[in-house]
Amino acid sequence: MSQKLCGMAGGKASVSYLTVSTFVILGILLIARPYAAVAIAAFVVGLGAVYLRQLTGKKTKSALTADVFQEFELAKKTIVSHNVTIYRFNLPTPESVLGLPIGQHVSLCASIRQPDGTFKEISRSYTPISGDDQPGSFDLLIKTYPQGNMTQHLASMTVGQSIRARGPKGNFTYTSNMVRRLGMIAGGTGITPMLQIIDAIMRGRESGDQTEIDLIYANVTVEDILQSVILDKHAEDPGIRVHYVLDRPPEGWDGGIGYVTADMITRWLPGPAPDIKILLCGPPPMVAALKRTTEKLGYEKSRPISKLEDQVFAF
Ligand SMILES: Cc1cc2nc3c(=O)[nH]c(=O)nc-3n(C[C@H](O)[C@H](O)[C@H](O)COP(=O)(O)OP(=O)(O)OC[C@H]3O[C@@H](n4cnc5c(N)ncnc54)[C@H](O)[C@@H]3O)c2cc1C
Repeated sequence: MSQKLCGMAGGKASVSYLTVSTFVILGILLIARPYAAVAIAAFVVGLGAVYLRQLTGKKTKSALTADVFQEFELAKKTIVSHNVTIYRFNLPTPESVLGLPIGQHVSLCASIRQPDGTFKEISRSYTPISGDDQPGSFDLLIKTYPQGNMTQHLASMTVGQSIRARGPKGNFTYTSNMVRRLGMIAGGTGITPMLQIIDAIMRGRESGDQTEIDLIYANVTVEDILQSVILDKHAEDPGIRVHYVLDRPPEGWDGGIGYVTADMITRWLPGPAPDIKILLCGPPPMVAALKRTTEKLGYEKSRPISKLEDQVFAF
């Protein structure tokens, strides 16, 4: 990624109101002195309105900007397993929200030292597992790779240090009851967009979101399953079913075994229909294989880069 892509915001908020008003008052003083008192009174009222808008605006201010990277301070690291950590980053104020549409992700950027000693601007995508119901901070669930540029950088960060982020990014935005039933297939950390969407559906139940969900969650071992406590809690909802699949299951495992197969998809997910969607997220080889399998099963052919209207959408 280029230096320009990771560039920061240029300066503070606009001061155009003050600048324009000052010139208007100076003009009136020079040309039409009798109206100066009226102009100054109008200026004071206007200034009050600007400050009031800033004060009230703070409550719901979205912290992210789509084009410009901003700094966010690392507030907390929660170790989930030997290679997975939840990173909590502070938003600018305790009232700020991230402002990310459900199903979208953020881009993190950092200048990272390469094996040849040079520094390179690296940017990677992450889907927060927290929503705008959590003001003041946002959480990223991230798997650390031994050779990973960004994930090694994140692992080396200490509380108080900052990272650059921008967003929203992505082609999928969940809206309440957009389909009757969602079939989801996630592998490893590919669970993050699914968690975001399931959380939103659960929050929306009271206001009439009736979407049913069938999630196939594939991992290598039982220790690799992420956020199972939260997923199992969600599965108490009669409209939400979670099907775990393990490549190397422990003895007595009663879930799916091996890779996700056509048979598992037929058994557990909604069949092809105009009012369903299949969502895929996981390692690229897994997603590529699942695109082929779903097409063979009669779902609409997925595109190389998914669009919101697609029946089979890969994040
Ligand atoms: C839309 C989107 C959302 C994402 N959300 C998340 C998220 O919420 N949490 C999360 O942990 N990741 C997420 N990812 C993946 C993330 O963007 C990075 O690809 C990942 O963190 C690795 O980055 P890195 O710079 O550390 O590794 P890189 O420097 O890109 O890779 C270095 C080496 O690490 C290994 N490696 C990297 N990625 C993988 C992989 N997927 N499978 C196996 N080996 C790998 C390989 O050995 C590779 O050669 C998301 C990706 C996308 C596209």
